[in-house]
Amino acid sequence: MMTDGTATVTIRDVTPRDGLQAGTPVSSAARAELAIALADAGLAHVEAASFVSAKAVPTMAGADEVFGLLPECDTAWWALVPNARGAEAALAAGVRNITVTVSASTAYSEKNVRRSTAEALAGLAEIAAVSQPAGADLDVVVSCAFGSPFDDVISPSPVIDVVDAALRAMPGARITLADTTGTATPRRIAAVFAELAGEAHTDLGLHLHDTRGTALANALWAFEHGVHRFDTATGGLGGSPFAPGAGGNLATEDLVLVLEDLGIPTGIDLDAILRIADSLSSLVGHSVPSRTAAAGPLPFFDSQRPLA
Ligand code: ZN
Repeated sequence: MMTDGTATVTIRDVTPRDGLQAGTPVSSAARAELAIALADAGLAHVEAASFVSAKAVPTMAGADEVFGLLPECDTAWWALVPNARGAEAALAAGVRNITVTVSASTAYSEKNVRRSTAEALAGLAEIAAVSQPAGADLDVVVSCAFGSPFDDVISPSPVIDVVDAALRAMPGARITLADTTGTATPRRIAAVFAELAGEAHTDLGLHLHDTRGTALANALWAFEHGVHRFDTATGGLGGSPFAPGAGGNLATEDLVLVLEDLGIPTGIDLDAILRIADSLSSLVGHSVPSRTAAAGPLPFFDSQRPLA
């Protein structure tokens, strides 16, 4: 484990998007306020909205309003777009950091966006044609990279084929492998990484869900194996409305607590995140799933490494 102070981790909090998309609708103003609170807590990356059809995902309506309320600051605001039309709307709203998804599972892709994986890959090229001339930063999130509720088996090689095709459609994009439904384990992540070894791209992130309590174990295993970019949601909220049985995201506070305890700086104020997790309970009308939100920060263990 790298604890010599040179390792850094980049966390993108996706609460205003992934965290809220499957719940009851929350106003655009409250979603913008949440995004700003996350930035104030030290998140350098926040996924604030999704430019999808309000008919398909009513909780994500008003993405342009959300972006209209976000200030220019050091935090990179991200938006998910489903197609070139969504990318045009996002760019018009001032979005400069765009996530797109393509699924390693064609069955999931058909349920989620009513397109096969091949059709979704063709859509990436259209989004790239709109977004890259505008200078947008692009992140291809490969959903169901470690399994899906609609397939018995996802083997690593189709995942790698999807990654390769995505990078051909969207040259220079970063890649984030998503455990959309929480089926990953360290062993399964290792199998995908073994296939990826030798690939040209280096900027690999992970988007983890905690359906079976494996998200933090997966994150730490991946961190030890060189992954330094993670998607999380405060309170452990989230899940896809199109993935039956999917649990919430890896909780921001759980990851921050463990990394900071290892001496790995995250730049994130854990107490501020816990206050946001608390306020989220009232916003969504139920307690949040995160363990750290329920238990509070760690008591001091030694005087060498205060968890201030
Ligand atoms: Zn997710």
